[in-house]
Amino acid sequence: MRPVTRGDGPVDKQGHHIQFSEYANARGELINRIGEYCSYCEMHLDTSLAVEHVQPKHPPGATQVDQTRALNWNNFLLACTNCNATKGNTDVDLSEYLWPDRDNTFRALKYSEGGVVSPAMDGDLKQKAINTIGLTGLDKTPNDHKASDRRWLNRKEAWDIAVRSSKRLANNDNNDFREQIVDTALANGFWSVWITVFKEDADMLRRFLEAFPGTCQECFDVTNGYAPIVRQGGQC
Ligand SMILES: [Zn+2]
Repeated sequence: MRPVTRGDGPVDKQGHHIQFSEYANARGELINRIGEYCSYCEMHLDTSLAVEHVQPKHPPGATQVDQTRALNWNNFLLACTNCNATKGNTDVDLSEYLWPDRDNTFRALKYSEGGVVSPAMDGDLKQKAINTIGLTGLDKTPNDHKASDRRWLNRKEAWDIAVRSSKRLANNDNNDFREQIVDTALANGFWSVWITVFKEDADMLRRFLEAFPGTCQECFDVTNGYAPIVRQGGQC
C-alpha cells in the first residue's frame, strides 16, 4: 500500500486554516495532495472517489455524527466504493492497524504475481497487516466476493501490464520509454504493483516515487536503491 503524506490542512489566501463545512469539500485538495487514487487499493479513479474517514464519522452505536472526526483534515483519505463499503463504519483502534498516512505500508504488505496482497513482515506487524488487509478487503478475489468488486482483477491487470512494460524496457531502454512507463502507471494506478515489478531498477523507482503525488519520500532510502525503510513516527 502506497505510503502517503497528506500534509498540513489547507489554508486560505490570508494563511488561515480552512474549516470545512462539509467533508466532501476537502475532496479537491486531497486529490491535489495525494492524487486521484484510492488510498487503500490504489486504483486510479476519475469518478466515485470519496473522502474517506479513517476513523468513521458515525461509529456503530453513536446516535449522531462525530463532528471532530467528520471535518478533521487529519482523518481524511480517499477511497473507492469497494474499499469504503468493506471498511464501513468499523470503529478502528488506530494502533491495531497499519495506515498509509502514518506508516510505511509498502514495507508491511507484499505484492506478488497476479497482484496478490499478503503480509510482508512477521510478529506484531504481521497481525496489523492482516488487520489492514481484512479491514479493506484487499484479499478479496472474484471467487469469494461479489462481481462488482473488481479490485483484484484490476490489480492483476496492472501487474501484467507492468511485467510487459519491464520486458519491453529491457529490449529498448531509453529515457522516453521510461517516461512512457510512468505515464502508463499514473493512468493505471496500483503504485505498489509498479514498485514491486520494477524493484531492481532504482531509476524507475525514483520516477514512480516522484510522479505519484503525495508519496511519502522519507519511506525510501535514496542511498540504497530506494529500498523501503521505517517511517519516522510510524509503526513500520
Ligand atoms: Zn479502493
